[in-house]
This record gives sequence, structure tokens and C-alpha cells, in this order.
Amino acid sequence: MTAQILDGKKLAADVRAELAHKVAALSGDNVPVLAVVLVGDNEASRIYVRNKKKAAAEVGIVCEVFEMSDTIGEQALLAVIDELNENPHVSGIIVQLPLPAHINPLKILAAIRPQKDVDGFNPYNAGLLACREPQAVVSATPKGILRLLQSTGMNLAGKHVVVIGRSNIVGRPAAMLLLNHDCTVTITHSHTRNLPELTRQADIVVAACGCPKLVKKDWIKFGAVVIDVGINRLDGKLCGDVDFEQVKEIASYITPVPGGVGPMTVAMLLENTYEAALRQPTHECCHGHGHCGCHKHND
Ligand code: NAD
Repeated sequence: MTAQILDGKKLAADVRAELAHKVAALSGDNVPVLAVVLVGDNEASRIYVRNKKKAAAEVGIVCEVFEMSDTIGEQALLAVIDELNENPHVSGIIVQLPLPAHINPLKILAAIRPQKDVDGFNPYNAGLLACREPQAVVSATPKGILRLLQSTGMNLAGKHVVVIGRSNIVGRPAAMLLLNHDCTVTITHSHTRNLPELTRQADIVVAACGCPKLVKKDWIKFGAVVIDVGINRLDGKLCGDVDFEQVKEIASYITPVPGGVGPMTVAMLLENTYEAALRQPTHECCHGHGHCGCHKHND
């Protein structure tokens, strides 16, 4: 068998095209605004932010980057978040990770107003997802993984998914989201014993461990679907957590790296921002509380 390639680049372009239409239909006041807080001078973070800004512009979402020195204190950063929370023009807020070591990321992420938390990293949204509450803002990478799986047309109910990795930003929320879609989910991590034995039982493998080409052909059941989240550099070239050349011989579907989950992550962030803008009260007069009595509330 040679696997069909799950083309995240193409699917993401379709999502962006549809979003561009939806954004164009919004009136000027309601155009989504994504605020990106970037602390310090991390080169990779700068590239990620640049890509997000470019993708946002393509769909008509305004992306404002707030650059902070890496010497900024926790309280000062919390004050920036608070200002963005209160700004009625800002639909979504993300804080580009990693943060400098002296700042507790959880404290910062928890300060983002849940309705504006378009990365879905606020523990409140993570909790809503764990409770299977539909109003949870689901983080972009897991959402992208789900969309890629759905694009195959397969019925997810009852499928055994093995997720490799349990991070708060990928493994854990991906496991929760797939559980909420009726999959049977096994979460594995760096202490898991006999990992290949587990992955061989999977109908779907989601590899998100940051180990270049860890997943080999003999780890995969014939016809399984393989989603590779990893972004690694090996001998100067990008590669995933899956040995693509080997595994494509046995899987039914596989995502490439680059061009799989990565572009979907950015597209889902934009979709989350659009959805946040729809939730966002835009009435400056009363911040959406409706006590000003202006005509906007009768729309
Ligand atoms: P992380 O380092 O926070 O977590 C890695 C997880 O993998 C941990 O839970 C760890 O226990 C587990 N792990 C590590 N080695 C393992 C092993 N040998 N066997 C089993 N489990 C193991 O990383 P992360 O932020 O979750 O990211 C994972 C990978 O996904 C990285 O390569 C990252 O660059 C990539 N990533 C890609 C996207 C995207 O949009 N494509 C988004 C986020 C992260």
C-alpha cells in the first residue's frame, strides 16, 4: 500500500478562502483583530509570528503584534494582557511561546479572557474541552488534526487513536478532542513502556513528541492513518516525528512535514479569531453590555 497524502497545505488554503469570504461579509466595525504578544528575540517565534501575520492579512483579519523586551516582568506582562482583554477592538489574544524563564506561562495564559483566548491555552478552555463543553475554544493544532482526519471521510466513532505526547498544547488537547469525537484514546509519553506495541494496535496514530523520525514502519498497523505533528530539524532539513518514507508504505493516509499539520494550525488559529470576533461585543458605548440603549442593540 502507498498511503494517500493528507495535504494540509491545500486544506488550509480552502479554510482560508472560506474565512476570507466570511470576514469580507462583516462590516468595518466587526473586522476581527488578532493581538499577538511577542516577548524577547527568539528567532523561531519571530518566524511563527510573521507567518501568522501574513496568513491573517490574506483573509482580512487584522493582526497587531505587541513586541516586549525579554526583561519585561510578570506584572508588566499581565498588565499588557489586561489592556488587551479590555480593548473592545481586540477579538483574540495569543502569547507566543516560549516565554523567558522568569515568567510563569500558565499565569499569563490564565489571564487571557477565555472568550479572547484563541489559542485555547487558558486552563479554563482546556477544562471546558475536558468537560466536553461545546463553548470551549479548542487550540489550533488539535483542531487542525481533527479537520485533517475528517477530510478523509472516515467515521471516527470507536476508532482507536494512540497519541504520542501529552503536552498541554498538542497531545493532551488532541486526545480530549478525539475522545469527544467518540474515539477510544490511548495517551502515551516519554515514560510509556513498549510504545510500538501500543501504536501497532491503533487505527490512528497522532505523533507529537518532537523526536525526529521516531515512528517506524513496524510500529504501524496496515491501513492505519498517521498524523505527524512533529517539526524537527535533522541534518539541516525539516522532518516530523514519523519516518515518512517508511511509514507511507503501510499507512492508508499520512500527513507530510512540512505541508501537513503546520498550515492547518495557522488556519485554525484564524478560524478561532473569526469565531471570537462573532462572540465579541463591539459596542464601544457600553462594551456590549447593552445598558447604553443605543440603536446597535436592536440590530
Ligand atoms: P513537548 O516537548 O512539550 O512535548 C513532547 C511530548 O512528547 C511530551 O509529553 C513527552 O512526554 C513526549 N515524548 C517525548 N519523547 C518521547 C518518546 N520517545 N516516546 C514517547 N513520548 C515522548 O512538545 P510539543 O509542544 O507537544 O510539540 C511536539 C512536537 O510537535 C514538536 O516537534 C513541535 O515542534 C511540534 N509542534 C508542531 C505544531 C504544528 O503546528 N505542526 C504545533 C505545535 C508543536
